[in-house]
Parts: sequence; structure tokens; C-alpha cells
Amino acid sequence: MTKRIFNFSAGPATLPIDVLAKAQKEFTNYQDTGMSIMEMSHRSGVFEAVLDRAKSGIKELLDVPDTHEILFLQGGASLQFSMVPLNIATKEKNVALINTGIWTKKALKEIQKQVTCDVVASSEDKNFSYIPEIDLSKVNQDSSFIYLCSNNTIFGTQYKEFPDTKSIPLVADMSSDILSRKLDISKFGIIFAGAQKNIGPSGVTIVIIRRDLLARSEANLPAMLNYNSFVDSNSLYNTIPTFGIYMIAGVIDWIKEQGGLDAMEQRNVKKAQLLYDAIDSSDYYYCPVANEDRSSMNVVFRLHDTEEKEKEFYQQAEAQGLSGLKGHRSVGGLRASIYNAHPEAGIEALINFMKTFQATNQKKTQVVA
Ligand SMILES: *Cc1c(COP(=O)(O)O)cnc(C)c1O
Repeated sequence: MTKRIFNFSAGPATLPIDVLAKAQKEFTNYQDTGMSIMEMSHRSGVFEAVLDRAKSGIKELLDVPDTHEILFLQGGASLQFSMVPLNIATKEKNVALINTGIWTKKALKEIQKQVTCDVVASSEDKNFSYIPEIDLSKVNQDSSFIYLCSNNTIFGTQYKEFPDTKSIPLVADMSSDILSRKLDISKFGIIFAGAQKNIGPSGVTIVIIRRDLLARSEANLPAMLNYNSFVDSNSLYNTIPTFGIYMIAGVIDWIKEQGGLDAMEQRNVKKAQLLYDAIDSSDYYYCPVANEDRSSMNVVFRLHDTEEKEKEFYQQAEAQGLSGLKGHRSVGGLRASIYNAHPEAGIEALINFMKTFQATNQKKTQVVA
């Protein structure tokens, strides 16, 4: 393979080619230090400048207020399913959770190992094809926090507006749509996201936490599971994944060069619209997700045809350089993940492929003689 393909993988996902090329150029000798960024102490001034660039870049792009801390952790988004309740769930209080599919179910399972967790809204009745309304008057006002997932990577749903949870801290798993649009960070108690979808390579998790919540962590928590260890050390409690942070800093610079989150959002909406329009205007493809709740990051679609044909679809697409279109193993069907770095040309190529595949495979309706 000599040329780059269009990568529709859900994560790890496509990264901006400019950022990859710059990393390649700097790989063996970072800024005339005579060594790779990977070979350098995480406590060196040179590396700390990279860390600061990543952190201040996120602060600037998301307009993170001084009430919130930005942390870089390990263990993936999945560790946060445990770490959030370990730190901010109060033993006597329950947690309230909005269930929008597999990722919130996994979180529910982990939270329930520690405290009572009530599912206060769910879209399971319609196979997670929409974002459920939440009636806040029915939520226990004494809850430790309310938990949701902003973008369901697997079912292709996305919150367009977030519920106002008033005095109850809102916790959001934003692994698959962070930095895809502007956000009002002040509405959230904790936001967390694994980096490998929209921010960089795997191995780093970003956590944005409201400072007052840090007082809830009990001192006898294992240090590696206590947010305060990372707040007190500028995320350098132990050896941070240095290369991942370097790549994140590069992606942040790239987003700024593109015009920031306003430009990202415009591009993402446009790309997604192109694809949804192609799906909706055909009688061969369909999208099972409610119109108003469709994700601009993960476009889930199916064929009005057999599962065998769906398999042919992603296999033939793969052979033509359109990679990773197979739906998540738990739901089947097809999925195009089109994060920030996915180019519009990839969407156009996919739409062309869809048209050709339909023309070749759709059963012709019988012409009445
Ligand atoms: C990918 C993903 C996760 C899991 O992330 P890991 O970093 O693999 O633990 C969790 N939540 C959402 C919404 C995701 O898309």
C-alpha cells in the first residue's frame, strides 16, 4: 500500500496527515535536542512545554473556565467508569444515569459496584435509536451526579443540547465528540474522553473536572485513582504517556490552524449532512437513528437488503480503500466514523461507492408488461 486510504474506523481513528508528517519529520531529533520526544524525561523543560501547549490549547479551544482543571490520565475512558464514582459519588447518595447504549451500560455496571445507580431515562425501548428526554423533577435532587454519554459511538446518536441539571453535577463521557464543536464547560462537573477518536493516539484520557468536586475524593483512595494526585502534579504524578501528549499538542495546533471549534463544527455538520442526505435520498440505504439525534461523528446506516449484502458492502469498500465501515460487532450493519480529521473527500468517495453498489446490487423491480 503506497497511498493513504480513507479511514472510517471508530477509534483509533484517522489523524490529520499534517500532524503525522510533522511527527515523522521530528521523530529522531525533536527541536535540535538530539533526541526523540519519546526518549526525553517527562520532567524536562522541553517536554513540559509540550504538555503546556496541549493543556493551554484545550483550555483555549473549549474556553475552559478557571473553575475547572484539565488532566491527562491513563486507563482509557473505561477507567473513568470506575474513577468518577470512586472520587465523587457519596456513599449515602445515589447516582442518576441516562442510558443511551453500550457505553452508558458499561458505566452503569461499574458505578453499581460502588453505589446505587438509577437509570432516569433510557432509549433501550427503541434499540437506542434516539436521545431520551429526562424529567428532572423525577430525579432525586440529592443525587451525587447525573451521568450521560454525549455521543454514542456505536448507535450513532448525539446530544445537540444538554439537560440543565441545576445543582446536581453533570458528568459526560465525550470520548467520541470532544473538540468537534463548542461547549459550555461551566454546565459540567466532569467531562472525560479517551483521546483515540478525536484528539490523538490511544493511551491518554482527558478529564476536565470542576475544582469544588475534588474535595469529595477520600484521602485513602489509591493515589493513581485519585484525581487530586494529578491536579497537584500538573498530570505528572507518574510517567505520563509522553508521545501521546506530543501528538495531542500537534492535533490541537492543527485545530487552531483550521479556525478552531467553530470551523470544526461547520465542517463536521456539512460532512455528516452530505452522508445523511445520500442515505435518506436512496431507497436502498437507511439510517435507523431519529433525525434530530443523529451524530455528526458516527453515521450508522443499513441496507434494505440481507446482512450478507451488508458484509459484501464493507468488504468491497475496504478493497477500494474505504476502510472500517463495518458496524460495531454488537449491532451489525454499517458505520462511517467521520471525526474532525476525516476529509470531505472521504465522504464523497463513500457516496460514490454507495451509488455504484446500489446500482449493481439492488433488485430491479419487475417491469409490468
Ligand atoms: C471508545 C469509547 C469508550 C472506550 O474508550 P477506551 O479508551 O477504550 O476505554 C468509552 N466511551 C465512548 C463513548 C467511546 O466511544
